[in-house]
Amino acid sequence: MTNNNNRNKNNNENNIEKSEESLLIRQAAEIMPGGVNSPVRAFRAVDMEPVIIKRASGSKIYDYNNTEYIDYVMSYGPMLLGHADKRVVDAVKKASENGFSFGATTENEIVLAKLINRHFPSIEMLRLVNSGTEAVMSAIRLARGYTGKEKIIKFEGCYHGHSDSMLVKAGSGALTTSVPSSAGITKCTSEDTLVASYNDIDSVKNLFLKNNGRIAAVIIEPVAANMGVVLPDEGFLKSLFELTHGNNALIIFDEVITGFRVSMGGAQELFELKPDITCLGKIIGGGLPIGAFGGKKDIMEYLSPIGPVYQAGTLSGNPICVAAGIATLKAIEDDDAVSKANEAARYLVNNLTVELKKFQDNITINSISSLLTIFFKKGNINNFHDVMETNTEQFKKFFGIIINKGLFTAPSQYEAMFLSSAHSKDDLDQTIIVITKAVEQVFN
Ligand SMILES: *Cc1c(COP(=O)(O)O)cnc(C)c1O
Repeated sequence: MTNNNNRNKNNNENNIEKSEESLLIRQAAEIMPGGVNSPVRAFRAVDMEPVIIKRASGSKIYDYNNTEYIDYVMSYGPMLLGHADKRVVDAVKKASENGFSFGATTENEIVLAKLINRHFPSIEMLRLVNSGTEAVMSAIRLARGYTGKEKIIKFEGCYHGHSDSMLVKAGSGALTTSVPSSAGITKCTSEDTLVASYNDIDSVKNLFLKNNGRIAAVIIEPVAANMGVVLPDEGFLKSLFELTHGNNALIIFDEVITGFRVSMGGAQELFELKPDITCLGKIIGGGLPIGAFGGKKDIMEYLSPIGPVYQAGTLSGNPICVAAGIATLKAIEDDDAVSKANEAARYLVNNLTVELKKFQDNITINSISSLLTIFFKKGNINNFHDVMETNTEQFKKFFGIIINKGLFTAPSQYEAMFLSSAHSKDDLDQTIIVITKAVEQVFN
């Protein structure tokens, strides 16, 4: 492990607290695998000690020593309004006083479902679940049940949560073979998920040809944000729709990140496309655990108890999460938070593009709306293969510098930076200075 002591350089007087944080990190590692409840939090990709977070507010997050960071992780997407927005906090407090979970329908579930439907007209009916993973897992079962077919096409570099059938990658050699990307996934499971290349419609065509009549659905992040930000080429999604529907398969948009972010109505509103099934999560819970999947009525009515596809959840539609979701979506509407976060990102990207011009042979910034990734690589980054050519050593050095200067970003080259409506001009100006200096340091 690299020494990370100067991470808290503003707090050098607090050596006692610092050693308390180190102690916590050690304790975490003894009781939780890797010291974390989700792998990226372990900071392995950057060879550093992880942070222990104490609290967050607006655009700022504070570690165990109360060192302040401008936050661009934003819980990996949910916090479009920034942290601890008062309206959401109040809604959660109020809901919690009326009980935590009932095992029966509440009025607020209908309110949230209608709010989602208003912005996503393709979601005629929906089910609330507890995570993005669960939304995708359920959507895939539904697609299989509805079409009576077994195989699913996904794209290399897209992340759809950690259900078995989604933990699959392209095998080496022929594109027709896929292999598990995790231990513990059976060969049978991985064989039913086919892997295509993002922005490569021919790779999808080939899979349809070789698996004629056996494909239930194609699932895609309409803007890929889990290999860093990778945008769909002009026309790619439209071609994908035509190809998929031409083969009597369903198209599933995984909008767990893009929903209520790239536009209120997600990427489907932005690109004017109507997927058969949509998966949501993250922002619709405002930081509390939630997910949703929905789509055409006749597809959704395949779910039990009225249809043959089983799906359930003890805590699904949990009243606290639903209250947080409603308050979040309403506040996003009231504040025009999507536009605000977009403007913040545009300001950041425009300024960084100018400041980093002399490094244009080393760095590429991909961005859309309030998502961006600074890739350590020259030129177009269009798919997983391009992303894999980034220089992760340079990223590692860069990350080590910026976290010490008070920027909290994902400790991995393969993640997005998430802007929020809470990021101020001061935050952004400071960020531009820190990033510019850090890049100069990486390359001198
Ligand atoms: C985060 C994410 C998921 C998984 O959601 P969880 O709530 O972490 O289970 C699925 N799809 C996409 C596109 C995501 O970004």
